[in-house]
Amino acid sequence: MHDYLIKGASIVDGLGGQPYTGDIAVQDGKIADLGHISGDAKEIIDADGAYATPGWVDVHTHYDGQVSWDDTIDPSFSHGVTSIVMGNCGVGFAPCPPGHEKQMIELMEGVEDIPGTALYEGIEWGNWETFGEFIDYLGTKEYTLDVGTQVPHSAVRYYVMGERALKHEDASKEDLAAMANIVADGMRAGAVGFSTSRTAGHRSVLGDAIPGTYAEKDELIAIASAMGKGVFQAVPAGVVGDAVAEKWTTEQEVELFTEVARASGRPCTFTLAQNGNRPDQWRNCLDLVEQANAAGVSITPQIATRPIGLVTSLKSYHMFQRRETYLKLSELPFDQMIAELHKPEVKAAILADKDVPPDQPGLMANLYAGLGMMTPAMFPINLPINYEPEPGGNIAALAAASGQEVNDYMYDFLISEGGERFAILLGANFVDGSFSVMEDMIAHPNTTIGLSDAGAHVNLIFDAVGPTYQLVHWVRDRVRGPKMPIELIVRKQTKTNADLFGLTDRGSLEIGKKADINVFDLDRLALGRLKVHSDLPAGGNRILQSASGYLNTFVSGVKTRENDQDTGARPGRVIRA
Ligand SMILES: [Zn+2]
Repeated sequence: MHDYLIKGASIVDGLGGQPYTGDIAVQDGKIADLGHISGDAKEIIDADGAYATPGWVDVHTHYDGQVSWDDTIDPSFSHGVTSIVMGNCGVGFAPCPPGHEKQMIELMEGVEDIPGTALYEGIEWGNWETFGEFIDYLGTKEYTLDVGTQVPHSAVRYYVMGERALKHEDASKEDLAAMANIVADGMRAGAVGFSTSRTAGHRSVLGDAIPGTYAEKDELIAIASAMGKGVFQAVPAGVVGDAVAEKWTTEQEVELFTEVARASGRPCTFTLAQNGNRPDQWRNCLDLVEQANAAGVSITPQIATRPIGLVTSLKSYHMFQRRETYLKLSELPFDQMIAELHKPEVKAAILADKDVPPDQPGLMANLYAGLGMMTPAMFPINLPINYEPEPGGNIAALAAASGQEVNDYMYDFLISEGGERFAILLGANFVDGSFSVMEDMIAHPNTTIGLSDAGAHVNLIFDAVGPTYQLVHWVRDRVRGPKMPIELIVRKQTKTNADLFGLTDRGSLEIGKKADINVFDLDRLALGRLKVHSDLPAGGNRILQSASGYLNTFVSGVKTRENDQDTGARPGRVIRA
């Protein structure tokens, strides 16, 4: 008798082939049978009219702190993700000897925009020093999904070089050997990769680029060569365009990654998006990637399936948040503050105020100044959210239509509906106001879907919902251009990612694979309203967005979600690669 029998689903198996109708038998955590199955099961799931796919594998997350205080791992869990990889972009919390906690938090808070207070309070500091001890600590936990780790460059460099790492000094021979050793130990302990960030746009809260940003080729090759297995993940210089002064172009970076991959034998994966300053850079990079892969080196750009959208609201970040009058009012309870903000004299004062400079220059909250400049290009968020809007619907156009200045209009917008309104800036990948560059990126044979940044940028970006979004938009709803086949989108969110990180026990629906499965009704699949929850440790805020239409999610053959609800089961474990 099987544990579960999923009957009559449209099976998209993650291997890239077209959907077919069939049954899936689940037993002892694995896929026991596939096809037309007549046997019995403890529970039979009628999946007629629904799709069954492998569970989503999200390889670009930042749950490094959250895994201490939360076994749910939302937002990913609610969106059908069954395996995550964290420790991306060079930041994480191991190795971390006593006394380094503050620096690790400053790096994570600055780069990934997770409130430092939550990290101080929520992380169970002192349970590890080495990376291996960190994995052992995670091994004591039970989650809704499986958790893979990477060894973060910043932590390793700071561990070995101390202040010299913060000053971006070159690594000595001894430093290189020590870093290589630590990374090799972390990989042996079960990490699935090593990560580094090379953009000056990734700063600690103090405003400095993080350790490792300017590491030279010999350092990267020494580390990558010591890994022995797993993936080398990097955020290249130039990825955010000319917003910051960079040492290298992204094309040079891709050439560097190619050399690292060739010298070390490690597959390399990096962030690729279109930016407004150099709108063709992504294509140059893809050409280089193609050449490298044709020459036998493994380079996989991680791409997004929607513009990287920065949201603004009264409860998160907005253009008035450093205005003197606003700062005073922001200490009031929210409802009282809103009442004050509705007073004409308060509005006039805030619009006339100058910004008060921040105490922590590297905080992402400081985007407030940029949010002001970018406001004309923002779009109000209405349900269902349209990520491919016509330019006529932006704040500049709406303000003009109502005869108001942009700031004046934005103020009214933010305080409307009880302060629950959101607007979004569609930045990277939306330079020409359409999704055409993403069509090419998604279809490209060397790319994979990453960049959810789940667990990070909790008050600014919510691309963690990408796995649901891309089915809704690219497979089902798109009108301004071609749709994408479901088998392509599914493969790039499952098997391609799992294979890249060596997780060969999952990522596809095949007999003998781990029973990580989603069953969903594509017709009903939907994203809910954005809501700010004050549920981080120390009362910190984060934006969450719900999903509906997932009938079931299984992890290791255990049902973790049923009709969009948490079943309470926690079969997820740390991955020891
Ligand atoms: Zn990241």
